[in-house]
Amino acid sequence: TARTPGQAEFHQAVSEVVSSVWPVLERKPVYAGMRVLERMTEPERVISFRVPWIDDRGEIQVNRGYRVEMNSAIGPYKGGLRFRADVDLSTLKFLAFEQTLKNALTTLPLGGGKGGSDFDPKGRSDGEVMRFCQAFMSELYRHIGGRTDVPAGDIGVGAREIGFLFGQYKRLANEFAGVLTGKGPAWGGSFIRPEATGYGVVYFAEQMLKTRDESIYRKGCLISGSGNVAQYAAENVIRLGGRVLTMSDSSGFVHDPDGIDEEKLAWLIELKEVRRGRISEYAEHFGCAFHAGQRPWAVKDAQVALPCASQNELTEQEAKTLLANGVHVVAEGANMPCEPGAVRQFIEAGILFGPGKAANAGGVAVSGLEMVQNATFSTWAREQVDDRLLGIMVDIHHSCVRAAAEYGAPGNYVAGANIAGFEKVASAMLAQGVV
Ligand code: NDP
Repeated sequence: TARTPGQAEFHQAVSEVVSSVWPVLERKPVYAGMRVLERMTEPERVISFRVPWIDDRGEIQVNRGYRVEMNSAIGPYKGGLRFRADVDLSTLKFLAFEQTLKNALTTLPLGGGKGGSDFDPKGRSDGEVMRFCQAFMSELYRHIGGRTDVPAGDIGVGAREIGFLFGQYKRLANEFAGVLTGKGPAWGGSFIRPEATGYGVVYFAEQMLKTRDESIYRKGCLISGSGNVAQYAAENVIRLGGRVLTMSDSSGFVHDPDGIDEEKLAWLIELKEVRRGRISEYAEHFGCAFHAGQRPWAVKDAQVALPCASQNELTEQEAKTLLANGVHVVAEGANMPCEPGAVRQFIEAGILFGPGKAANAGGVAVSGLEMVQNATFSTWAREQVDDRLLGIMVDIHHSCVRAAAEYGAPGNYVAGANIAGFEKVASAMLAQGVV
């Protein structure tokens, strides 16, 4: 912490991993001897740049852009771009570090990175978002490439932003390259990429439930968020016969005791993606309760919780409430949504807890499949991609279970994911010498 003062989120992410991989370092002293952990927690490269652009009133705005190129031991840097007012280096380093281990779990050759800006697209016109994206890419384009660094979306960066970013990249580089993932299916994108993270979270929860001869069918699910991950987590819960009781945004949550079905979800997706409205409108439209400024974790009648909004959105106290209300499956759709005290509660209670770097790896996995399609100039059918996604989530679940058991923590998916991801990256770093 002395070398990186003030980076609380980054310290939180690293200390969780360090406590999990301690038994690995003890059993395999070569990793400590070669200072693999110190190297892994120092980004290979951090790029920070000015993003000046002109708003609708003709005034100049100045934002800050970043790309953290964390680790390329097993493949090109890969990870999303986040546009939100609170984006800083601590957040991006935590995300890039998590991403490195997550990408290692996907079975695909992907390194780790993350980037973004303190620009918030909320409340901005399409024209402003486009001019910002063009200004952002005017610098970023020289640092990325299909074999170097391949960004994608994250909070505040959806299909619209990826389109504007890709358009500007193409204009500057004069090539149609697979340099961003999450593109539209008509212009190099993969089917199922928009759905992949949310679908994958639910596939992962299903795999965990299977170890106890259970399934999501008929279970009540609390979902936070109503963005990309939350929308498709909800869709997959519905596909598998579960009941979605809540969804939220940064203004509060809606509680629909009848369940958010396919039709209501389609309405909600249109509200969020096309009209860019607030979740309270759902409550008004369908006549259910809206709880302003609150999170959904105290709602009863649920067995499953899927936090899909943002980091540190589920506290230790909220974890206790969930447990007291009978929730026994938690899968993280967001990155690090559960505070460390909450994770401790879940593990001590022995419930099924899937950490983000395993449970939400489906998005980056399908991004990897988008890269394969781009490199081979091909397009795979929806069903083919969905099958591959399910297969990858099953493999990730298996790797977590195996690594946890091997190091004396059976059933602990946090230990399993951290150890399996760490060992893959660490062994590649050792093989490549002191770099
Ligand atoms: P979106 O921007 O599409 O959606 C984010 C959602 O979370 C919105 O509903 C937003 O509400 C809500 N939200 C954001 N910040 C807060 C907050 N502080 N408190 C409460 N609600 C909040 O992002 P994504 O769905 O893409 O990402 C969600 C999470 O999933 C992030 O942690 C991201 O890193 C992670 N993730 C995303 C992947 C992807 O493929 N997209 C892959 C793996 C992880 P509002 O509309 O009011 O802002």
